[in-house]
Amino acid sequence: LDEVLMAEGALQMKTKVAYDVFTPLRKVFSVPIDMVLSERNLVNIYASGYTRVPVHAADNKSAILGVMLTKQLIVVDGKDKRPLSTLPLRIPNCVSPTMPLVNLLNLLQMGGEKGRGGHMALICARPDVGNRALSLGQAVPETAGLIGIVTLEDILEALLQEQIYDE
Ligand code: ADP
Repeated sequence: LDEVLMAEGALQMKTKVAYDVFTPLRKVFSVPIDMVLSERNLVNIYASGYTRVPVHAADNKSAILGVMLTKQLIVVDGKDKRPLSTLPLRIPNCVSPTMPLVNLLNLLQMGGEKGRGGHMALICARPDVGNRALSLGQAVPETAGLIGIVTLEDILEALLQEQIYDE
């Protein structure tokens, strides 16, 4: 029976796509690159509860530059008023909303192409445009059509929900 459930889960991973499980941009907790890591801002970031926080251009929430891991902040002292821009950022992959979950699972698990990834991907109508900008150290441009994010958790949750529902 377990094998049947696992096979069903694998099939759903092929039919379900990123669009079915992603988190829309308006719900994403992100921070601007010009932020100072003051005690107050550190508390706000920790209070969000997220492990991975996208970093966006000063003026535009959809112009994502990279992803900060909150564990990077453990060594930061709020009294130093260190600029967030001094932290090394992870460069995520941009993927199409139509990417099957099985492909997305592989991408996120493997850390992505060119050593990118880190368990979060950006969902873009034009992933090629987003990936090109990010690899040049630039923000995701408006023309990439960024609509949200997806993490490994979203994929595994979708898989488990289906299995529970089927029982
Ligand atoms: P965490 O490790 O931070 O708890 P997960 O990767 O387990 O995050 O994802 C849990 C849910 O939260 C998923 O639906 C994911 O899309 C969403 N999520 C992850 N990071 C963020 C963020 N910075 N802002 C908003 N939602 C997020």
